[in-house]
Amino acid sequence: MGRLGSAEAGEVVRVVDSAFVRSWVEEIARSIEDRRDFLTQLDAAIGDADHGVNMSRGFTAVTTKLSEGAGDGLAPGPLLVLVGSTLVSTVGGASGPLYGTAFRRAGKALGEEPQVDAAAFGGALRAALEGIQQLGAASEGDKTMVDALAPAVAAFESSVKRGASFEDAASDAHEAAEEGVAATVPLQARKGRASYLGPRSVGHQDPGATSTALVLAALERVAKGG
Ligand code: ADP
Ligand code: MG
Repeated sequence: MGRLGSAEAGEVVRVVDSAFVRSWVEEIARSIEDRRDFLTQLDAAIGDADHGVNMSRGFTAVTTKLSEGAGDGLAPGPLLVLVGSTLVSTVGGASGPLYGTAFRRAGKALGEEPQVDAAAFGGALRAALEGIQQLGAASEGDKTMVDALAPAVAAFESSVKRGASFEDAASDAHEAAEEGVAATVPLQARKGRASYLGPRSVGHQDPGATSTALVLAALERVAKGG
């Protein structure tokens, strides 16, 4: 995360720059690798046992592209668009287009600015959520990634409005996402493959909500400096 000058209260003004986005994406990729088998096991219970594999394929393609220089010189927005496009083109299954759209929309919301503040980043998270909901038509309570992302976006925005630091907003967003994940367990799935199970989807944690919480956990860690 870039640092800019000093604020009035003597606090460092923090902004999101390309290096921050890159670190975030690399941290997501590491954590997906770590939890790949767990995500796949969750999907084995209520889906087709490929969520970990799908996410791993997508984020491996992303980190490969970045290491080859595809993101060099890009502002945070275009960098996130590159991440999203790579996910769309490499991940089969529902989660590829959904996560791909989320990152692309977040990137578009940031525009071409080389540095953006916490409020703008909150707007990008909001745009990601809206993109997922437009594409997948899921509402909160349908037992999908929306159940983790919607409360996380709301928590991030309300923390920023209260004047919290970026780190604290990211921490609040992560916590809200984890609560959202836990809340998926008793739900019956109404969207995606798990919905085919009807009442048999009850009692299982949603894989996509779980990977969304990993994305926000990675944001918190990177915001806190790794
Ligand atoms: P697939 O279901 O095609 O095998 P994945 O296993 O990679 O794809 O992803 C499954 C996850 O995708 C689910 O756990 C759920 O969180 C998410 N998902 C599925 N359909 C939707 C939808 N319409 N809206 C939001 N998220 C969805
Ligand atoms: Mg699956």
